[in-house]
Amino acid sequence: MTPLFAALDATGALRFVSEVERGADCGCVCPVCGSSLVARQGAANEWHFAHEASLEQPECEAAALRVLRRLMLEHLQARAAAAGLGLPAFRQRVAIVRALVNLHEDVQWDVRLIGELQWQAPSEAHDPVARGRLDTGVDLHLHLHVAVDDTPPIWPECEGAQLVYRCRWPPASVLRDRRGVARYLDQQAELLWHQHPDTHGLVAGARARLETRSGQLYRNWLAMADAAGGPSHIDDIDAPPPKPLFYGPGTLPTPEQAPRYACAPDHAPNVSFTFYRLADNQSWLLYRLHSTGPTDWRSKSEKFYALAPYPRPFEGWTQALPETVGVADPFIGVIRCRSFLDAVTHLSRRTVLTRSSRDPAAFAGL
Ligand SMILES: [Zn+2]
Repeated sequence: MTPLFAALDATGALRFVSEVERGADCGCVCPVCGSSLVARQGAANEWHFAHEASLEQPECEAAALRVLRRLMLEHLQARAAAAGLGLPAFRQRVAIVRALVNLHEDVQWDVRLIGELQWQAPSEAHDPVARGRLDTGVDLHLHLHVAVDDTPPIWPECEGAQLVYRCRWPPASVLRDRRGVARYLDQQAELLWHQHPDTHGLVAGARARLETRSGQLYRNWLAMADAAGGPSHIDDIDAPPPKPLFYGPGTLPTPEQAPRYACAPDHAPNVSFTFYRLADNQSWLLYRLHSTGPTDWRSKSEKFYALAPYPRPFEGWTQALPETVGVADPFIGVIRCRSFLDAVTHLSRRTVLTRSSRDPAAFAGL
């Protein structure tokens, strides 16, 4: 708990402990509970205010923070009146991070205030201290934040732009007088954008460019991987087959003897197929790809999954699922999934019927 370094005098103005008479003659009250304070100006400790007869309430712990926030607000108001706030440019990093790509682009735009800020007394710490109008056509909400630790602040949901005037909690030496706090805020406090709607479409533009690049990279990768594929590069082809898992009454056939299903190109032996019928009446089989097929580029330990249009390719199947789910490989006749989880997540949200079986014939007519 930080000792109270300033308090309210009889007129409601903020007074630092160095600006008042010592002891009970200070004439100040607690900004939280309103009870009388004494000014402790001893030699041993940092000067501070204390509640008379230790009458403080648990909520008085926030008194020092409330005083600092008021000083920040007064400082910012003085700066706005003298020279204007000078809003920083809004900057945002747009990123796409996937299994094969990690791309980003920085976008920024200038933001100006139209007219004056409307200052207001916030009742809660997360309420804005001022509102205004921006030349980007949205409303501005200005917040204060004192970073006591690294916990990120939570602001209320807002349609417009949110700007934060923030600083770290200052060292005790700064809190001795008004000048020290003013100097600290000049040097350490900063205006930071928390959010700004994409009013110029720059974020959407950057995202579209990144998606295009990501798609190209992915297609290049697949082309390269397929060109490099084939049995010649599979170094562990002589490794013994994995021990079959016990499944049902009896053991599974060996990979060589396992049945192959034409409706699930390149499927791994003895896998389970999951059938999804979507709301638009398209049906898909989700299954694990064979890890040593001729079109394969993976090491044996990696598990890759595919979605095959079921029971056979239908008109437009290569475009039927978004690229976030996978990339169509028309040569083999499957969608190569980016990740198993993404595919399942996408399908599960749109599925009207789903079944699992080791024999895709079980889904016929569903
Ligand atoms: Zn109090």
